[in-house]
Amino acid sequence: MYEAGPSVPKPASPTPLPSALTVGDITVQITYSARRKKTIGAKIVNWTTLEVQAPAGIPPAELRTAIDGFVKQMCQQRQTARRFSSDDVLEQRAQRLNREYFGGKLRWRSIRFVSNQHRRVGSCSPARGTIRISDRLTDTPDFVLDYVIVHELAHLLVANHSPAFWKHVYRYSKTERARGFLMGMQLEREDADSDDLEDDTMPEGE
Ligand SMILES: [Zn+2]
Repeated sequence: MYEAGPSVPKPASPTPLPSALTVGDITVQITYSARRKKTIGAKIVNWTTLEVQAPAGIPPAELRTAIDGFVKQMCQQRQTARRFSSDDVLEQRAQRLNREYFGGKLRWRSIRFVSNQHRRVGSCSPARGTIRISDRLTDTPDFVLDYVIVHELAHLLVANHSPAFWKHVYRYSKTERARGFLMGMQLEREDADSDDLEDDTMPEGE
């Protein structure tokens, strides 16, 4: 008699990583390619999105290790970019907007990105002449960043949200669109009574 032995189950192949995964605040989009043999490619789309191309049959654990390495590198680059170039870019943008919308008359001491401002996209202390912009805006469209800068610059002239204030801001033609965009991100309130004016007695920080 012929008896079949117990069937040996084939080892289950490990589940491949999903096509998108989140590492920290970075979304990693994975594309599998049959043409790729060994190397894994990575491309920074923006500071919160990384595209990865991987060979089709790559073991998930190996891919995951590679992705963690890419993300780490990307975070280091991002930090450097924000610290050393973005504030210069911000200053230049503010100067350009000052010329375009305020006749170049405004003066301020500093404008910089900060990472500790989560609820507000920008803030201004007219007395100190300091403007702070949330680094959440480093990857929003330019017209949104420009709106927030114009808004905070206008506070150097008018330290409230009166109609006179909005008259200055609305000279920037994309104001309505930008406010809609920020409301979508839940960063701008409809009543526009956001408390982005720093009281002079407030400590540094947020
Ligand atoms: Zn304001």
